[in-house]
Amino acid sequence: MQESKIPLGVSACLLGFPVRYDGQDKRIPWISDGLSQTFDVIAVCPETQAGLGVPRPPMRLEGECHSPQLITIATRQDVTSRMAAFCTSELSRLVLMQPCGFIFKSRSPSCGVDGVPIFNPQSTEPQTGSGLFASAFCQAFPLAVVVEESYLLADVIHRHHFIERMFVAHRWQRFHQEDGGGAGLMAFHARHKFQIMFHDREAMRNLGRLAANAGKPGCVADYGQGLMRALAKPATVALAVDCMMHLFGFFKKELTSRQKKTFFQLLEGYRHGERPRRDPMAWLQNQAQHDEKSYLLQQWFLFPDPCEVAAHAHIPL
Ligand code: SF4
Repeated sequence: MQESKIPLGVSACLLGFPVRYDGQDKRIPWISDGLSQTFDVIAVCPETQAGLGVPRPPMRLEGECHSPQLITIATRQDVTSRMAAFCTSELSRLVLMQPCGFIFKSRSPSCGVDGVPIFNPQSTEPQTGSGLFASAFCQAFPLAVVVEESYLLADVIHRHHFIERMFVAHRWQRFHQEDGGGAGLMAFHARHKFQIMFHDREAMRNLGRLAANAGKPGCVADYGQGLMRALAKPATVALAVDCMMHLFGFFKKELTSRQKKTFFQLLEGYRHGERPRRDPMAWLQNQAQHDEKSYLLQQWFLFPDPCEVAAHAHIPL
């Protein structure tokens, strides 16, 4: 059970703060209002907090992709060092808050995660890269769940995926803070086995090997990186069916042919897009509870945190 809200950074303009160069905001109600029920939202506007003011001259990235400068377009002022100083101080503040993720405003020269235009008169090809603060954040918090608002707006599946990754990131963070050694890693992995399989079956096996060798140097850190990399992969219907078939395998010897038939009807309905995933999942949940399968009752994939269930329920379609 989640005891405290999960820290989540968000570009302040997405929360409705009028901090854009023109004094406007880019509020997205689900992010500004809906997510605060689940997450401890930390608003950050790099440009205003760096002292560049509101309103301020529009700016853009210029120069080389690997080290672009932040330049005001009309007045040609180079504010790169000012932004760099802000990044250093803000990241020191954020380290104390330990955000598990960040929702950035896309295409901003400060907040865009990728695909931000970088102007370079020496180059004939269009160049893109990351906004300066987003880039610094990703380096400082390599395991954080980092997305742009455009990704979340594009598809409801992306929104569900984001919520799921945030809860896994938080559990990993808690494990690292409270245990962090090798001894607990096997138990951590055991509870996440089907959730990892849901995204990447091969990673589930590799992470299992790392968990089994958790006492060796570097294994815990490698596990954390591999876990978040695996969870970043989109789940598919085929992978979900695969997971549910594995879960079904825990019961099949004890079931009547009628019970088996019911499950397979639900599963096939899901596979062919005629039923939601929650139908075969509910059957598996009921059966695990009925049969008191302690290993399955511990699976986050089958029994998510109630706060996560609530967060998924409030996602707009
Ligand atoms: S995109 Fe980033 S820097 Fe620009 S207004 Fe929004 S929070 Fe501020």
